[in-house]
Amino acid sequence: MQLRSSFLPQDDGRCGWYGLLPPPTPGISVSGQINADWVVLGAGLAGMAAARRLAELLPNASIALVEARRAGFGAGGRNSGFMVDLPHDLNSHSYTSDKDADRRIIRLSRGGIDYMREIVTRERIECDWREQGKIHGAANGQGTRALEAFSRGLSDLDEPHRMLDAAAMKAVTGTDFYKAGLHAPGCVLVQPAALCRGLAGSLPKNVTLYEDSPVSQIHVGQPHRLVTANGTVTAPRLVLATNAYASAFGELGFKGRLLPVYTYGSLTRQLTAEELTRLGGEGSWGLIPADPLGTTVRRLASGRICIRNSFTYNPDVAATSRMLERAKRAHQKSFDVRFPMLPGVDFEYTWGGALCLSRNSGSAFGEIAPGVYSAVCCNGLGLTRSTIAGKLIAEYALGMDSELLRIMLEQPKPCRNPPEPLLGIGLRSSIAWKEWTAGIEL
Ligand SMILES: Cc1cc2nc3c(=O)[nH]c(=O)nc-3n(C[C@H](O)[C@H](O)[C@H](O)COP(=O)(O)OP(=O)(O)OC[C@H]3O[C@@H](n4cnc5c(N)ncnc54)[C@H](O)[C@@H]3O)c2cc1C
Repeated sequence: MQLRSSFLPQDDGRCGWYGLLPPPTPGISVSGQINADWVVLGAGLAGMAAARRLAELLPNASIALVEARRAGFGAGGRNSGFMVDLPHDLNSHSYTSDKDADRRIIRLSRGGIDYMREIVTRERIECDWREQGKIHGAANGQGTRALEAFSRGLSDLDEPHRMLDAAAMKAVTGTDFYKAGLHAPGCVLVQPAALCRGLAGSLPKNVTLYEDSPVSQIHVGQPHRLVTANGTVTAPRLVLATNAYASAFGELGFKGRLLPVYTYGSLTRQLTAEELTRLGGEGSWGLIPADPLGTTVRRLASGRICIRNSFTYNPDVAATSRMLERAKRAHQKSFDVRFPMLPGVDFEYTWGGALCLSRNSGSAFGEIAPGVYSAVCCNGLGLTRSTIAGKLIAEYALGMDSELLRIMLEQPKPCRNPPEPLLGIGLRSSIAWKEWTAGIEL
């Protein structure tokens, strides 16, 4: 079977997390004919976890990890840096679904955090790793009620958390924009691009990372052959870890089942000492909106504020300059309403990035053709879900068994989407409606 990629990863704006790092040291690209025992396509969180786990379990095997751009430049380094352990169902209105499903998701997410913590500690990866939890913030009565429902859901699950009143929210965030909050302690905050770069720089010796090597064709067979502009990689086993880009490879990549959705981030310039005093509050915090379509905010210990909001359905998995401009305007509006004590603070960076959702929050995990394994469809929570999916796909491919692996295999597969143009019309109207109902939370 020969598959041509119908689109390739694009630049999607200047990402602040990546831009604040020193320039990367030179990497290597695919050139000529490369043979390996395994090839992993995509060096995001899933791909790096899969390659690392394969190398840990098979120290004598050669593993080629192929990435279109530099490690940390893609969505793995573009996100808001919340390693979320609790249910976070973007399709629901309160982030939770049903109790048993929630418990299984928590097990998987914590498995991802545990694996990452072990790597970050052992390899001394400097990524501003903070075990400080996340705050959910509500800006009005509707949001407060959503948090109360979320709190009841967490109590049913025996998950620790505490409610915060408006004064407590101001003490943390410095603003009186939030009327109520909920603190959940298990979430870890990171600098995502630094995390990805650190992961790439600490891969086991039997993994070779090929960057700036977009794969334009996959020949599925024995062995599989991946074609780039300057060479090919051949291996008998392939792990697909391309998330939102997976559908570029047609049926092999779950075409017609995935929803490539973009969301956008902006990072302010460095605030001055006087501005930070005027803002007040704590030096570092991460806030998730009470409404899933609302605005995520992080205050960084380095003295900048990161805003994330706006979703667009981008079937060709690229953000246009118009989309980036629109997102930047939305970010400025959300910033100004939350931080009126900081007039005139603008954004130094604005970027977009691809999420991979499915209508039933299913995961594209397992063997999808002989010798082809998939760890795709993070449903918006790639820091934990893609990490654990990557680790587990390596274990699954090697015939291992574990409780976590069984939970992963029990997850539903992505269901089929309605055909275009119905899908596009439906999704775009659903996003517009949900953003409208999110109201001030946006
Ligand atoms: C603004 C924003 C905020 C977010 N906030 C959070 C958050 O706080 N917490 C959280 O958990 N998640 C968050 N996410 C989602 C998170 O970033 C993704 O879920 C995560 O990156 C998915 O990881 P992945 O490894 O599965 O996929 P990706 O990170 O997308 O990695 C896939 C890789 O495959 C490569 N690739 C694709 N096609 C090819 C090809 N043909 N050839 C070679 N390489 C290819 C891509 O370049 C990419 O690097 C956010 C996303 C965005 C955009």
